[in-house]
Amino acid sequence: MTQSAILGFPRIGARRELKHAIEAYWKGGSDANILQETAAGLRARHWRLQQAAGIDVISSNDFSLYDQMLDMTAAFGAVPPRFGHAGGPVPLDTYFAMARGTSAAPAMEMTKWFDTNYHYIVPEFHAGQTFDLVGQKAVDEFLEARALGIHTRPVIIGPVTYLSLGKAKDEGLAPLSLLNAILPAYVELLRRLKTAGADWVQIDEPVLALDLDKAQRKAFKQAYLTFAHAGLEILLANYFGGLGDNIALVTSLPVAGLHLDLVRGQPDLEQVLALWPADRVLSLGIVDGRNIWRTDLEAAHTLLDQVATRRGTSRLQVASSCSLLHAPVDLELETTLDDELKSWLAFARQKLDEIAALATALDHGPDAASQAFVASRTAKQARTASARVHNPAVAARLAAVRPEDSDRTSAADVRRILQRAALPLPAFPTTTIGSFPQTAEVRQARAANRRGDLDDASYDRFLKTATEQAVRIQEQLGLDVLVHGEFERNDMVEYFGEQLEGFAFTRGGWVQSYGSRCVKPPVIFGDVSRPAAMTVAWSQYAQSLTDSPVKGMLTGPVTILQWSFVRDDQPRDDTCRQIALAIRDEVADLEAAGIRLIQIDEPALREGLPLRHADWQAYLDWAVDCFRLSAGVAADTTQIHTHMCYAEFGDIMPAIAALDADVISIETSRSDMELLDAFRDFRYPNDIGPGVYDIHAPRRPDVAAMRQLLEKATERLPAERLWVNPDCGLKTRTWDEVIPALENMVAAARAARAQS
Ligand code: GLN
Ligand code: ZN
Repeated sequence: MTQSAILGFPRIGARRELKHAIEAYWKGGSDANILQETAAGLRARHWRLQQAAGIDVISSNDFSLYDQMLDMTAAFGAVPPRFGHAGGPVPLDTYFAMARGTSAAPAMEMTKWFDTNYHYIVPEFHAGQTFDLVGQKAVDEFLEARALGIHTRPVIIGPVTYLSLGKAKDEGLAPLSLLNAILPAYVELLRRLKTAGADWVQIDEPVLALDLDKAQRKAFKQAYLTFAHAGLEILLANYFGGLGDNIALVTSLPVAGLHLDLVRGQPDLEQVLALWPADRVLSLGIVDGRNIWRTDLEAAHTLLDQVATRRGTSRLQVASSCSLLHAPVDLELETTLDDELKSWLAFARQKLDEIAALATALDHGPDAASQAFVASRTAKQARTASARVHNPAVAARLAAVRPEDSDRTSAADVRRILQRAALPLPAFPTTTIGSFPQTAEVRQARAANRRGDLDDASYDRFLKTATEQAVRIQEQLGLDVLVHGEFERNDMVEYFGEQLEGFAFTRGGWVQSYGSRCVKPPVIFGDVSRPAAMTVAWSQYAQSLTDSPVKGMLTGPVTILQWSFVRDDQPRDDTCRQIALAIRDEVADLEAAGIRLIQIDEPALREGLPLRHADWQAYLDWAVDCFRLSAGVAADTTQIHTHMCYAEFGDIMPAIAALDADVISIETSRSDMELLDAFRDFRYPNDIGPGVYDIHAPRRPDVAAMRQLLEKATERLPAERLWVNPDCGLKTRTWDEVIPALENMVAAARAARAQS
């Protein structure tokens, strides 16, 4: 009999119950017992949902109060010394302190979990690092489920992934060199799970989707050889990609089961079938854990059936491609989506039904799950034929795009001369990244307008006043290039998505981003087009108030794509090009409205990089081309800016240069301008605004520090190509922080000018 399985379920709760409980606890509004009760309630609910859907292999320890990597760190007592943990079980407040920091100890680093929008807490390793199994969470949650009559398969992060994703804080310490130190703690954990009654454990090793080095391969062999004696059956799970050249390694490991991500790793299937013995479990992740689309059950069944014919079904599992953590929880709660669109979607809860239906169909034929198959077929046919999805005008326009549409008229050095003549600016021109404080007042006005409590005309007046105030403040500060402040925007992607055709918005489609923070990505379901100008009125209004130049502010196509749920019926780059054309129209309209500088933000360009190096160039080619397609319509005299808020450029420098933006503003303050070495070494040809202060820093940045940073910048790059700006938008700050900070920034720029 085929088994159905998932690799994990979202923890936040369909109504973000966990978020609310955790935040109430942090605010001191509730005690730990209430938090733990809510958590236990959610776990029980999610186990029962899986049970009710007919899922055979139900996971436990997929729950977390903050993050599954941090859970491992806590289980092993690997608390960084600054948190003053004396050993033994890690108390709840120490756990949260590691994630969020305290006044005495900065938080541990957080970074993106592979290429998802989930962020994990990066393990920190110090010289003399030890690992002791001090935490029982995996065991406790297994027992908790058992007490409810549910036998689960606990899930833990494997040692190679855990160590590989960690960072050594002492020079010369290689995280993987800690393998010998950590394995006994893992063995102890497996032993305790077995004692508690577990028979299987799911060990997640998603680093298998990456390019592995020799040390990692060796570590895999050593670790899983060690675990072979633990007496527990291991399902080794890889996801977020195929195994690629790691197939031989993985299939040689002494584990009882292997999970493949068939959504992204289907090309591996043949080879795995040839190498993986039929008497071991093969888990096929065919239902996409990362999107919101209904699965094409017929296509999935056809593929699974081929495998079943060859291997039989007694050791076969039908599963989600990865944990369902990355999908919203329950489509049934959506009340605003129209029925047609809704019928095309599946959230985590609906994916359970799909997996169960596929398992049933494999054993008894599709007719045994006919309801699910019919719904799937109907949705597919409707999407394929729908005029909401396919817009012939968009297709025609895309087909007519010529390569030269992505080019500006003249080369950057010619443009620079023309732009300086058209728009004289002092040396070290000062500007900001776009947003100004989204105060409680701004957010309340927006909420009231959405509720219908504040009519559109009043809201518009409110926004105009806010914009005018921002313009006056910038004038008083003496900034050279102003912005309108983005008060009308809820979010830099949602604001655009709401005005574009082809986008839909859910009410409750929340996905955990980190800790208690959730995001609600837009759904791109159809061809994208721009019915009307989106930002022109606000930029034009701001420009009408001042003689200083006002910079138009757009979100770039790659970032809009990257932070949305993307349709699965055409390649990502096609969707991105459609968005690029919409942004291109906006650039043209801003220019026609007299806006002389236009910033196209691409903070998500880098995070779109594929997991495997071999796939980078193909991605960068289309991503860069989409940006250029957006910007390419601008006249030579219009200055195109872009902004990226991260500090790793070294490995994508050619792509950054290929964007051909006239000015790029980037985060540098925290890296002490060292980042600019990459721009210098590459001989980056255009203007750069290295962020001279960290907008997250609590203190007012002092003039001397910013002057010093500018000096360091001039050592690396020609002074006439430098801009002066903060490292990111200011929407999360207060005016009380922003005004003095910018005062100092302007003073630093003036001092640099005087000196040069
Ligand atoms: N223009 C945006 C802002 O200032 C850029 C945000 C970002 O870089 N993430 O808010
Ligand atoms: Zn930024």
